[in-house]
Parts: sequence; structure tokens; C-alpha cells
Amino acid sequence: MVRFVSTRGSAPARSLTDAIAKGLAPDGGLYVPEAMPRADLVSLRSAKTLAERATALLTPWFEGDTLAPSLSSICEAAFTFDAPLVSLGDDSVLELFHGPTAAFKDFGARFLAETLSRAGADGTVLVATSGDTGAAVAAAFAGRPGFKVVVLYPDGRVSPRQAHQLGAFGDNVRALRVAGSFDDCQALVKRAFADEALTKQHRLRSANSISLGRLLPQMAYHAHAAMQLPGASFVVPTGNLGNAQACLWARAMGLPIDRVVLATNANRVIVDLVNEGLWSPGPSRSTLANAMDVGAPSNVERLRVMYTDAQLSGAVSAESVDDDAIRKTIVETWRDHHYALCPHTACAVAVRRHQSGGPWVIVATAHPAKFESIVEPLVGAEIAAPAALAELLARPSHADPLPADYDAFVSALQ
Ligand SMILES: *Cc1c(COP(=O)(O)O)cnc(C)c1O
Repeated sequence: MVRFVSTRGSAPARSLTDAIAKGLAPDGGLYVPEAMPRADLVSLRSAKTLAERATALLTPWFEGDTLAPSLSSICEAAFTFDAPLVSLGDDSVLELFHGPTAAFKDFGARFLAETLSRAGADGTVLVATSGDTGAAVAAAFAGRPGFKVVVLYPDGRVSPRQAHQLGAFGDNVRALRVAGSFDDCQALVKRAFADEALTKQHRLRSANSISLGRLLPQMAYHAHAAMQLPGASFVVPTGNLGNAQACLWARAMGLPIDRVVLATNANRVIVDLVNEGLWSPGPSRSTLANAMDVGAPSNVERLRVMYTDAQLSGAVSAESVDDDAIRKTIVETWRDHHYALCPHTACAVAVRRHQSGGPWVIVATAHPAKFESIVEPLVGAEIAAPAALAELLARPSHADPLPADYDAFVSALQ
């Protein structure tokens, strides 16, 4: 049985289901496996669909866990859409945006929802979002018995389509548009989780990107791509390092993945860590790739227990891409390939251009139609929204206003 320990080393080891239900370890650290499970390449090879690959990949992680018998039904329920590899010149793009909210966050949110439901860990899922996470979590828990969702987002600072999505679920999902920044939203949520009475009263549950329930399923599509292109290198758009950490875990399990390259926007905290050994978290900067505007990426704790600072630059590479290069890459990729990139995926394509060898997998984290106000003027064409996104955008949308004030937030929760 795999047991999970804290990155900070002073919390008791837990089973997988317990670690998922808890979210954060009691010492403030993040859960990591005591020993990295080995991939069963034979069963991965015979698996065909993404759901089957996810089951094969995660079986050693769930061994001996109370949810082990449910793993394949969890994967079948969570992975209902594909993660196809499409050609872009000599490279392959791993499209992770075919889920209900058109970003890769759908994989993690849906797996987490299926897991918490089966573990009987219901309650109110509280989430602060700069755009994509909130919608994916809302979609995954909407209409799910036993759960409510409360999403806080910074009013006026998410894209118009992101805002519409967040308010379009209704039912058991409540959207609160906060008069403040994303950091203000996150501060309210953090304070609520530190408030034991409130947490107990509402059975508050976290769904943020440090949850194992989101990280584990994200390994599945990297493994799926690696089984189709053995020995490929991956370039992953990176903000809080959840998606890329999952790719590194998949490689550490024994999947045939060569190099892993992290592509950040102008927030270069991870680039400085990997290239200079310098760890200097700080406030985030606003960029065109807003879902990667992270100044203090929390998953770095997992990276740093996996590799010493001296090993890090050999294990991964990292490069930062500024807004001008994002624009230029979107324009040129459209011109050369008639393929529209979201600003996050554009960072990965820009970084790939500085690499040699191959084959390369470029991880595409969101559909460009989600960021149409940036992408459409650059390519001079309308980008049609995928069906699931269009369906959400056609619904009415409502969000309640909230001042960035804790007492007002607590009253709104009642
Ligand atoms: C969340 C997000 C990212 C960053 O992913 P991390 O796991 O935080 O590194 C990149 N692109 C899009 C579109 C996202 O929504």
C-alpha cells in the first residue's frame, strides 16, 4: 500500500483516500508518496482509451486503499472526453481542452469530484479562482448530491467568457464576484479554512491545485501521450506547477518521457529556481496568460522533495515568455499552420522553438475560444467556441457581488 507523507515531514502518513479528503497536510505541507509507485507498462500498453490508461496508471497508487475497487469506475466517470494528439508541423500538440469548460482543469476537477463522492466526503467546496479552476470545479460538482460549490472571483479581472461561465451553473453552485484582486479572493478562502468553526459548520472542502485528487489524474494524459510517442519530450505551460508536476511524476513512475521543459509567462519564479537555483516567490504580475500569473507556486514544494536544488537543472529545463512573444507566437502559428493557440499554449510553442531534437509534445492547456478577446484580433478570424462551452455561454449567468471583507463573506455563506 502506498502511504502519503507531507513535504514538510512532520505529519503522520495517510492512505490515499484520506490524503485526498484532507487536501493539505496538518503541518501545512503537501502530500507526496512515501515511495514512487512503478508503472505497469504491460497493462498501460494494452489499455486503449484514456480512461483505461488512467486506470492502469493509477492502480499501483490505489493498491490497498478503500477506493481501490472503485478506481476503474472513477476513471470511466471522470475521463469522458479525449486528450488527442494532433500534428503541428513536426511536433504533436496534446489537446487538453475537450472537457466541459475547455481547459485541462476539467480532468482534475472531475476526478476529484468522483473520488470525494465515493469517499462520502461531501460538503461545500470553496474555491478562489482567477478563471479556469472555478469553472472546472463548478462543472464537476454541479448537480452532485451532497455538495455545494462557492466560487469567488475578482470582479472585472477574468475574461468576459470566464465570468459568464462561472455564473452559468446555478443550482448548487454560487458565484461571488469580489470587489478586489485574485489575492483578495484567495485570502478570504484561506481565512475560511483556518476558521475551524466555519469549516465544521459548512463541511468546507478545498479543491485547489495542491490536492492529490487533481494531481493524480493529470498524470494520465501525459502517460497516454507517452505511450503513443515513446521517448518524446514534453513542454508544459506552467503557473502553479500542477500540470508539470504530474508530468514529472509520470516520468518518475517509468513512463517513456525524455525531457520535461517548463514554459512560464513573465512570472519567472520557477525559471529562476531551475536555472539559477534562486527561490524568490513574490507577488504575481498580470500577463496575457492569466491562468499562469502565479508569483509563489505552491507545488514547488513537491518538486523540491523530488530533486535537490543541485539535481534540478539536470532534471527539468525552464524558460520564461513575455507578452510580446506570446502575441508573436499566436500570430505566426496561425500564419504557418492555421492553428489557433490560447496564450498559455503559446508560451509552450515559443519555448519549443528554442529546443532541438524530438519528437516533442506541446501541452495545450485551454481552448483559444476561451480567450477570444486576445486571440481573435491577433489572428483576424473568429474562433468558434466548442459545443460544451457554447452551451454554457448560451445560459443565463448570475453572480452575487461581495466586498473583499471577511464578515461579509461569512454572512454570504449562511
Ligand atoms: C491553470 C492553467 C495553467 C497552469 O497550470 P498549473 O498546473 O498551475 O501550472 C495553464 N494554462 C491554463 C489554461 C490553465 O487554466
